[in-house]
Amino acid sequence: MSEIDRERERELRHAIVEVGRWMWERNHIAGTDGNISARLDQDHLLTTPSGIAKGRMNTSDLVITDLSGRVMEGNGRPSSELKVHLATYRLRSDVGSVVHAHPRTAVALTLAGVSLAPVVIPETVLTLGIIAAADYETPGTEALVSVMEESLLRHDAIIMDRHGSITLGTDPYHAYNRLESLEHAAQILFMARALGNVEPLPETEVAHLFELAGHTDQNGE
Ligand SMILES: [Zn+2]
Repeated sequence: MSEIDRERERELRHAIVEVGRWMWERNHIAGTDGNISARLDQDHLLTTPSGIAKGRMNTSDLVITDLSGRVMEGNGRPSSELKVHLATYRLRSDVGSVVHAHPRTAVALTLAGVSLAPVVIPETVLTLGIIAAADYETPGTEALVSVMEESLLRHDAIIMDRHGSITLGTDPYHAYNRLESLEHAAQILFMARALGNVEPLPETEVAHLFELAGHTDQNGE
């Protein structure tokens, strides 16, 4: 097992604590909701422990696990929702951090059966690709991981029915920015639908945007 780079660990601890504070301050989580993880190296993750308010963490609260979720260092235990993070790191070598939150507008839209997948504003293609939707499964279970796997392979922003978001990035700030963009897009869609009918962008324009964003197809690949 590789030796942990303590300088990298120190930087990631700081980033995760900062991202947790932003998530709480901007109402993307409440109380002890949500979780954040980052890849320390090929054998280790740094993650938030369960049962702690993610908006008011100290860098010493975080735990180091191996890639199966077994705690290697730290006092807490990881969230049951770490399963989705572990699956992500297993499936995607390009992902360095996973952020899970309960953004209000995006979750409310799932309750009303409104999908965020149709592209209505061009910016989302550049920052998020297609926002995928995952069917409802009990949070924290292997069944949820199973329904997520296909989306995790192809997308960087996923909204879980009646639950919350998973956003992926190269580091905690990158994954957090995608959460913020996802909730911002959800707020715009919510407001627009309150004002009238919302039409998605034409397919040809969506394809053009994906080309500009450097994706080879519309699955975020
Ligand atoms: Zn959750």
